[in-house]
Amino acid sequence: MKKIDEQKISQVRDHLINKENILIVTHYNPDGDAIGSSLGLYQFLKNRGFQTSVIVPNQFPQFLHWLPFTDDIIIYEKDKKLSNKILEGSDLIFFLDFNAPDRAQGMESIIKKSDASKVLIDHHPNPESFVDVSISVTNVSSTSELIYEFISRLGEESEINQSISECLYTGIMTDTGSFSYNSSLPDTYYVVSKLIENGIDKDKIYWKVYDNYSIDRLRLLGYCLNQKLKVFSEFNSAYISITEEELKRYNYKPGDTEGFVNYPLSIKGVVFSVIFIERKDHIKISFRSKGMFYANEFAEEHFNGGGHRNAAGGYSEQSIEDTLKKFESALKDYKNELIKNRI
Ligand code: 5GP
Ligand code: MN
Repeated sequence: MKKIDEQKISQVRDHLINKENILIVTHYNPDGDAIGSSLGLYQFLKNRGFQTSVIVPNQFPQFLHWLPFTDDIIIYEKDKKLSNKILEGSDLIFFLDFNAPDRAQGMESIIKKSDASKVLIDHHPNPESFVDVSISVTNVSSTSELIYEFISRLGEESEINQSISECLYTGIMTDTGSFSYNSSLPDTYYVVSKLIENGIDKDKIYWKVYDNYSIDRLRLLGYCLNQKLKVFSEFNSAYISITEEELKRYNYKPGDTEGFVNYPLSIKGVVFSVIFIERKDHIKISFRSKGMFYANEFAEEHFNGGGHRNAAGGYSEQSIEDTLKKFESALKDYKNELIKNRI
């Protein structure tokens, strides 16, 4: 298991020398991998004696709140003053699970301004250059898997205790849809086997993440599948769209729509699934695909987004009606690609 260049490891080692205040930053709308990898690295650095902080641009979903040390996470949108102070006092910043400063949204400009040493650890394609050391590896399941290798390659594998392992496992599990995509390489299972050796209870982690929702969320899902799902059989595609009013009706809490986008992929023949969620000033869009259909290219081309081949995101500033129209029209150009990937 050697996906990170030795040279990068030694560069990070050099950057760690004489550093006191370390900051970990992850992307807007942090997911299980963003939070899992950040809290895993956070504990490791703290246990090694570094003054360490984690700042996320905005609130993370409720189903991750059980993870160890979530109370230590600072939310930039809620606590700008404290965040800016920590940022100014940091001499080393780790950027996890994203590779372009604009993915940190409100934090973008202060990140760019900071003169701290910068290290990126991420698994998304096409990294931008804004750091001193870029550990960008795309053929891994998740940033959490990379953090396992990173700590191990620093010669500190024995520091990965049960609590760190729980965080890293959560990241791997959520970024692979419980090992249904992005998880076809043996290394992922090597890391998982190590995490299990470290005492994690993988079934309990699954329950805590996926079986931890409110009744409202389940009813919202039922409503979406019943009323808001549109299938395009000739394009092997489907989407769900939800308005702000509908979310309100079902007492929406952050994270409630997580996973909805996967359901249409369970329809025979569907290889491309999309969800459009109306927010105050934009439409948040998630894309999921099967096989070699490049959801990230679709997201980038039409909806200001990006991500992985099979899991991507983007947004639209048009109304929900116009956004859906635009999507339906764009879909036509992908007919051949979509049909090719029919399973
Ligand atoms: P999700 O649909 O779960 O929000 O995101 C799926 C994947 O797409 C994640 O890997 C995420 O990092 C990426 N992603 C989501 N939204 C955006 C976006 O607006 N821009 C880019 N470049 N990637 C995104
Ligand atoms: Mn990730």
